[in-house]
Amino acid sequence: MPRNVVIVGGGTAGWMTASYLTAAFGDQVSVTLVESANVATIGVGEATFSTVRHFFEYLGLDEREWMPECHATYKLAIRFENWRERGHHFYHAFERMRAVDGFTLPEWWLHTSPGSRFDQDCFVIPALCDAMSSPRHLEGTLFEREFAGDAAGRMHRSTLTEQDTQFPYAYHFDATLLAGFLTKYATARGVRHVLDDVLEVKLDDRGWISHVVTREHGELHGDLFVDCTGFRGMLLNAALGEPFLSYQDTLPNDRAVALRVPRDMATHGIRPCTTATAQDAGWIWTIPLFGRVGTGYVYSSQYCDAEEAERTLREFVGPEADDLSANHIRMRIGRSENSWVKNCVAIGLASGFVEPLESTGIFFIQNGIEQLVKNFPAETWDDGLRAAYNRQVANVMDGVREFLVLHYYAAARQDNQYWRDTKTRRLPDDLADRLEQWQARLPNSETIFPYYHGFEPYSYAVMLLGLGGLRTPAPPALGLLDGTAAAKEFQAVRDQARYLVDRLPTQYGYFAHLHGLP
Ligand code: FAD
Repeated sequence: MPRNVVIVGGGTAGWMTASYLTAAFGDQVSVTLVESANVATIGVGEATFSTVRHFFEYLGLDEREWMPECHATYKLAIRFENWRERGHHFYHAFERMRAVDGFTLPEWWLHTSPGSRFDQDCFVIPALCDAMSSPRHLEGTLFEREFAGDAAGRMHRSTLTEQDTQFPYAYHFDATLLAGFLTKYATARGVRHVLDDVLEVKLDDRGWISHVVTREHGELHGDLFVDCTGFRGMLLNAALGEPFLSYQDTLPNDRAVALRVPRDMATHGIRPCTTATAQDAGWIWTIPLFGRVGTGYVYSSQYCDAEEAERTLREFVGPEADDLSANHIRMRIGRSENSWVKNCVAIGLASGFVEPLESTGIFFIQNGIEQLVKNFPAETWDDGLRAAYNRQVANVMDGVREFLVLHYYAAARQDNQYWRDTKTRRLPDDLADRLEQWQARLPNSETIFPYYHGFEPYSYAVMLLGLGGLRTPAPPALGLLDGTAAAKEFQAVRDQARYLVDRLPTQYGYFAHLHGLP
């Protein structure tokens, strides 16, 4: 079996891969990670997806151990502001839809309109976000009884495939601190850490990678090479020539400008969600960490230049941003045609990226690593395993692309050329058909992108209802059904939300307690 793994790149992707491989294979596999001190990591990537808990669990890491070190906070939802019209907001929470008499609560909501906010009426988490609540009580128990046992630790390690419930939160963390934390974790378990520049990638007679040449540490030989060099894709794209399929024709945002804004959280509190605020040429993310906010404007260079983008971001943040320097980033949107070619697997931005609107970058990394472990080759380098990997990884990214395109297409906002163009731009192949089906009935498992991509029907339904640009009629059958049970369920959501808001600590209170602050 390939026993010698060389990872090139020490960003989030490199260190997550190194940590996971050692957690999975122990000393059966030797792992070397080489990273450059001269090429910076991307420096963003701080909001995650609820599935990321499987990653930490697999490593045997307790939240109370790693979260304070990485200034992490909880994320229960994404708050979308101004996507429908200025002043409007709704939450896309990590919460599945309840069902009554075979119809989802949002379908009943369309029929009876019991209130003006579908998200507050159908889901519990939006109220927790408005109240800035922590999903955990001070002693650590989770608000959802269904998951209450997890604080005590699970008996077995789980991966994305065993995700049968919707866990109610993800994390925000400082990406640099997390990479540092995982460096300690991985090197303590035997990963060899080389701080050096890779100058060249050498191929053997078959065109496989035989070794990389470093500036100061000579040649690093391996059986399997993992390309975690970020957007440059130094091994997969540059050395092996694997084509990159751009998604730019359907997702035009190709730039970002980011700021790290220190903030006194005791005064401001910590919202337990990421906020995505629509702008004239894209949107601004706001990610509250413990002690600072990560923020950035994701925009399309066809509609806005770097100077204007930075000005917009600084105006959005206000005087707190005055002395801070901004990080301008060019984004490569799309995916490598195959993320695994010969003996090289790309993970992270080298594999693909679809702009950070639903915080899927780290989810792609986690998925790529899990698939690598599941399809880890024997000496014979079975083509079937490689093909299975490539199919799954491509489907995940193509599915997320569809979901993100929906955000722009379904947003009611049409107040300038950028937003008007989101309605006429080419749609990914099958999305037009699906959109037609969703305008007859809210999305369900039969009508969304058919392969695993992390998002479930509830996410699609929430986005359609929240974005407000497309027709979302109630199922006609509801007019023939007795709505008493649905009315009770709406009341149950309200009662549960009120009960929890009254009892849960604020997110700031919870983390101040964890950090040992008064
Ligand atoms: P990088 O961070 O670019 O790391 C590349 C590594 O390769 C570095 O260590 C570098 O030193 C090394 N390297 C490069 N060349 C060489 C060489 N010649 N020799 C040696 N080493 C070399 N994801 C999320 O999940 N949530 C988010 O909220 C989110 N927001 C994002 C916002 C923006 C604007 C962007 C662009 C991305 C965002 N992402 C997000 C994605 C996330 O940032 C990345 O998935 C994650 O940081 C992984 O990056 P990486 O490790 O692949 O690459």
